[in-house]
Amino acid sequence: MTMRVSAAWPQTTARPLTQRRRGATVDDLVGNTPLVAFPTLTAHLPRQIQVVAKAEWTNPGGSVKDRPALNIIKQAERRGEMHPGVTLIDSTSGNTGIAYAMVCAARGYDITLVLPENASPERKQILRAYGVDLVLTDPLEGSDGSIRVVREMVAENPEKYFYADQYSNPDNWRAHYYGTGIEIWQQTQGQVTHFIAGLGTSGTMMGTGRRLRSYNSAIKLIAVQPDSPFHGLEGLKHMETAIRPAIYNDDLLDGIEPVMTEDAHEMCRRLAREEGLLVGVSAGAALVAALRTAENMADRGEVGTVVTLFPDNAAKYLSDPFWTAG
Ligand code: PMP
Repeated sequence: MTMRVSAAWPQTTARPLTQRRRGATVDDLVGNTPLVAFPTLTAHLPRQIQVVAKAEWTNPGGSVKDRPALNIIKQAERRGEMHPGVTLIDSTSGNTGIAYAMVCAARGYDITLVLPENASPERKQILRAYGVDLVLTDPLEGSDGSIRVVREMVAENPEKYFYADQYSNPDNWRAHYYGTGIEIWQQTQGQVTHFIAGLGTSGTMMGTGRRLRSYNSAIKLIAVQPDSPFHGLEGLKHMETAIRPAIYNDDLLDGIEPVMTEDAHEMCRRLAREEGLLVGVSAGAALVAALRTAENMADRGEVGTVVTLFPDNAAKYLSDPFWTAG
């Protein structure tokens, strides 16, 4: 008896870990984010109008960008373009870079990110902590300078790299078509009437919007935009003056809500102090637009469920003085 137990034990532990795994992997934790409500900030609205937001900071890399990064990498694997012999490359210092870094680390892939030298020290440190190889470009040339350098590196060495290219890659918006959009429909039991989101690459709006429209063509899609080209809404683009992402199609939209940086800051302070939600600046902007829409509906006596999306939490923006300025 004793012999049998001692003989069986090493055999059990020697099994590959994957067969014995109990906990979740990073992949398993991406998506299926909760919807949060705003009891204080919506107290003035009639009960027939609901306002809720997808809590995207609960993704394992801390932002909505985990969804497209994971899908871009999985689909490239499926096509045979991404594998251990290839290095993922892109130009991003923001949430997408962190998300690529997390997914690549968990798979043991090499990753190179190209970003302007003046990206914040915290961003660079997060990326280095995940083991990213950073290439820093001239700060005077901004993010366009980084894009140029990536293109040169890929052209010189096409075999070495998988160029993820989030602004042109349809697997960005498809992550939301096969994820975020379905989740919102199910979580609202099909009651969603409006979807409101900021535009960076536009992947969130293009994918979620298309999925929601496939369920109900009357659903209104409203984009949040900075009110000027010179704004502080990190992650969002002022589309009229920015380089237009290849995946962006504004025919899908019913409207655009311009939001001032100061109003987004004020909403972030209120979310922190009145709802206990410490979220990023683009989330504050999204709620400004969502509440404005809900108030207009109330004025017209309409009924509905307004869904927006909070891309990340405040962790990467805390050194900005606006938090305690009001
Ligand atoms: N907010 C933040 C903080 C972001 O990082 C991003 C992504 N760039 C967005 C909003 C916009 O998301 P999308 O790229 O899907 O349009």
